[in-house]
Amino acid sequence: MSGILTYVLHYEGEFNKNSLGAVSEAAKRASDIGAEAHAVVVGEGISDDLAKSLGRYGATKVYRANAPEGLAQPVVDVMAKLIGDNGYDYALFGGGLLGFEIGAGVAARVGGGVTMEVTEIKAQDGKLVAERPILQDSAIVDVAYDGGVGVIIGRLNAFEIEESGSGDAQVEDVDVQLSDFSTKAKVIQRGEQRGADVNIEDADILVGGGRGLGKAENFSLAEDLANALGGAVAATRAVVDAGWYPYAAQIGQTGKTVAPKLYLAAGISGAIQHKVGMQSSENIVAINKDQNAPIFEFSDLGVVGDLHKILPKLTDAIKAKKGS
Ligand SMILES: Cc1cc2nc3c(=O)[nH]c(=O)nc-3n(C[C@H](O)[C@H](O)[C@H](O)COP(=O)(O)OP(=O)(O)OC[C@H]3O[C@@H](n4cnc5c(N)ncnc54)[C@H](O)[C@@H]3O)c2cc1C
Repeated sequence: MSGILTYVLHYEGEFNKNSLGAVSEAAKRASDIGAEAHAVVVGEGISDDLAKSLGRYGATKVYRANAPEGLAQPVVDVMAKLIGDNGYDYALFGGGLLGFEIGAGVAARVGGGVTMEVTEIKAQDGKLVAERPILQDSAIVDVAYDGGVGVIIGRLNAFEIEESGSGDAQVEDVDVQLSDFSTKAKVIQRGEQRGADVNIEDADILVGGGRGLGKAENFSLAEDLANALGGAVAATRAVVDAGWYPYAAQIGQTGKTVAPKLYLAAGISGAIQHKVGMQSSENIVAINKDQNAPIFEFSDLGVVGDLHKILPKLTDAIKAKKGS
């Protein structure tokens, strides 16, 4: 059978958003190539209703395996068996560390090809082609699969969630014998989601920090200013990818879309993918040491200079004005 099998990460009665984006993408591309989009969920206590609900995103069938969740190897076992038994042409993942790990494991197990950090998928001559940015996102390569199973791992949030399906998916329970080594690890504790407490969508004032801040510790400059202004801190993808700030604060094409009264961009170049997430802000102020930075093309006020000098002075001036 020709088809796309998508892994859907489940945790405490909810599906992960990246996974729902991947299912939506699988449904679209499956229809492009005349195939079916199926999904697989691995975990404990996944209800019928929850599993069926993947039909809303276009999955026609959902395999449910009762196995430990949050670990890669049990999922690799389940997916390798399903692919072997049913002959899927493609396995799709929404991204994230677990997606990378499982996808790589599945590719190795079934002898497939793998493409990571995929930002778009298209259909060509009845087959899927994965688009992947390279060289610090300055170019895009097309990756086609020449036989075997094509494993496609998306970049986080690259695929949009779309409710396209008309009804419930058919749910099939699968009982897969896990490999000995797959049961050797177990999850002891889950950490809190990084940046779960950052709420940038409701803030009237946002101070956006970019690579121009130089290092993670310098985000304190943006935080001090945001605190003085009574706002919150946002970030570019470059800095969240570098681990300087939480993903929850990312603005742009693959992050959040905001429209505050004031967006103050500090050390942000103004790449199109960032612009689409903040261009509706009422007032845009940019601080950048490069007078030719693209951000100045859509700013209401531009300040050419070194943010390390400007931000602390601005913070002091605002505090002084507010008398705090
Ligand atoms: C498919 C895809 C999706 C993407 N999605 C997003 C997204 O959702 N959000 C996003 O933000 N990006 C996204 N990107 C990445 C985007 O293309 C840019 O790479 C990113 O926005 C750049 O981040 P930056 O402005 O922090 O870094 P840079 O582009 O490196 O810019 C840093 C800026 O800081 C300035 N600077 C340096 N030092 C100082 C200083 N001391 N004082 C003042 N200014 C200084 C520099 O002049 C420069 O303009 C995406 C890319 C792709 C391909």
